[in-house]
Amino acid sequence: MTQNIYNSERITWLAGEVVRHKRLYYTGTPEIPDVDFDRLETELLKLSPNHPVLKMIGSKESESGNQKVTHDPPMLSLDKTYELKDLYSWANDREVLGTLKVDGTSMSLVYLNGDFSLAKTRGNGREGEDVTSKLKWVADAVPSIVEKLPFEVRGELYCSESNFVKLADEMVALGLDRPSSPRNIVAGVLGRKSHGELARYFNFFAFDILGLPGFKTEIQKVQWLGKNGFRLPEPQLLKSPQDLDAYLTHVKALMAEDEVGCDGAVFSYNNLALHNELGMTSHHPRYKISFKWQGQTARSKIVRIDWATSRLGIVTPVAVIEPVDLSGATITNITLHNASHVRAYNLKAGDFIEVVRSGEVIPKFLSVVTPGSGDFEWPKSCPSCGGDLVGDDVRLKCLNQSNCSAQKAGAVLNWIRAVGIDDLSDKRLQSMMDLNLVEVCCDLYNLTVEDLLTLPSTKEKMAQKLFDNIQKSKTVPLPMFLNGLGIEGAGQTTWEKLLEAFPSLEQIRTATTEKIAAVDGFAERSAQQIVDGLARNSSLIDQLLKAGVSPIVAEVDLGVARPLESMIFVITGELERPRKAVEDMIKRAGGRVGTSVSKTTSVLITNETESNSSKMVKAKALGLEIWSENMLVTKISSHHDGLN
Ligand SMILES: [Zn+2]
Repeated sequence: MTQNIYNSERITWLAGEVVRHKRLYYTGTPEIPDVDFDRLETELLKLSPNHPVLKMIGSKESESGNQKVTHDPPMLSLDKTYELKDLYSWANDREVLGTLKVDGTSMSLVYLNGDFSLAKTRGNGREGEDVTSKLKWVADAVPSIVEKLPFEVRGELYCSESNFVKLADEMVALGLDRPSSPRNIVAGVLGRKSHGELARYFNFFAFDILGLPGFKTEIQKVQWLGKNGFRLPEPQLLKSPQDLDAYLTHVKALMAEDEVGCDGAVFSYNNLALHNELGMTSHHPRYKISFKWQGQTARSKIVRIDWATSRLGIVTPVAVIEPVDLSGATITNITLHNASHVRAYNLKAGDFIEVVRSGEVIPKFLSVVTPGSGDFEWPKSCPSCGGDLVGDDVRLKCLNQSNCSAQKAGAVLNWIRAVGIDDLSDKRLQSMMDLNLVEVCCDLYNLTVEDLLTLPSTKEKMAQKLFDNIQKSKTVPLPMFLNGLGIEGAGQTTWEKLLEAFPSLEQIRTATTEKIAAVDGFAERSAQQIVDGLARNSSLIDQLLKAGVSPIVAEVDLGVARPLESMIFVITGELERPRKAVEDMIKRAGGRVGTSVSKTTSVLITNETESNSSKMVKAKALGLEIWSENMLVTKISSHHDGLN
């Protein structure tokens, strides 16, 4: 009896909280994180499964004036997992399509006679809201479509980080409340009665098409969507656990960049016949699953905001916060990306903020919970050299390029990380620069053991180790060499792509803007940036070559067979070269790198051939070949000249 009285009080309280937080969410000013809201809703569902509050749809209560509309078939939610092993066993070596899982609002868009005619929010899956007037502002929702038959596209509406910055500026200028985060503002704008034009800052990722016949696979569907001008959530066909791993690694990198708010990936069996065969449970389809990293959030107060100058002169903010525990680590710093981020969220000392960490990505700022008093401030001059700063819409930049020590140190550190010199921390580098031993990266290769002994707390053994590590980095794959130059707008994948068209250092150095722009995926502007960057670094490249640095070219385009074609390698134990360099060598020679030993593995790479590690035991049991690092290098280089 007591239990029942308690329950009914609890139910009343829960229902009130669910309604209140739902309202706050749809006006873009949530007070609690989504996980806490889910907890409230789940508890209510348990105590009172048929409570009317649970059937209440999103922004109906926010007085948006939006009409209710139904979904046929319903927009089911997806089964989700946080465990890799569950994902592998679900995939079970079937061919699957991977797409990004984006944190926005799920939508259904209907097209008649090639024209966009209706937009519906997901709502509770069976019934959503008509938000057509708002979606008319979203460029991605109204591509030019050739298809004349009626069809429906399902996908996710979201706000990118850079668009959020512009949107926040505009809302403040319009006298509206400052939005709290890109995740919440999408629902916030859709739930508004006025200012539907703010939806023009949103993007729409299309992931499914309904109503048209003839598709046999998921990939055919996304190809059709792509052809008709829809934006795609980076779909990729995956055929093995290794492919799944590689895709998730890519998703993690995107999460770290933080431009598109993705928090995992969605996987779907490619074969549509399987979809029909497997069908669905009462809650979700069996042929589709979402994978998320268990994210943890915590709250803390900003103590101050520190600004630091990067190698390209960009002055970036870091929030120093009161120490807080998050996923087993104590967090004291949170990167804030760029100056515009500080302005968009009006960040300053005294703000009580929420931070999140998932997928082992570095913790990041999520939202302001309770703002402190006053307004944000930008630094007046470069925190490193005191030079003048210029600001565009997004960033602050130090103009004192030739004499800013932070920029110089950043450039050398970029080289050290790109080519992978172990034990050379930024602190050690700073000492080298303070002692005038190093000014640019090629100076590293003129250092003697005696020079290194002059560094603070560096004894003979460490000096020798550092010297060896520096010398080892002289042999480096060409894309890493180029990446080490730190040319703006060109990362390692850019160089890898360019090397397919210009397969040697000489060819890349002499390529013209026109020739680079002719390569698929390169616009004229980025081609110009690359040509200018290479020209500016011309004497540095010569000095590096003269100092004995030799970039390795292992390329198909040289007319050489790919010696490791279709072989899968697993690496274990310590290597002489940086692990990344070895992985790159394997990939460039046509091989693939896996994470665990299985019967699909071809070779185990290890320098500890006598070890009894689990990978080694398994490899022996499976009768796999076991190569040392040097054997691998010999196998690759015996097929071509190897060194350039
Ligand atoms: Zn400066």
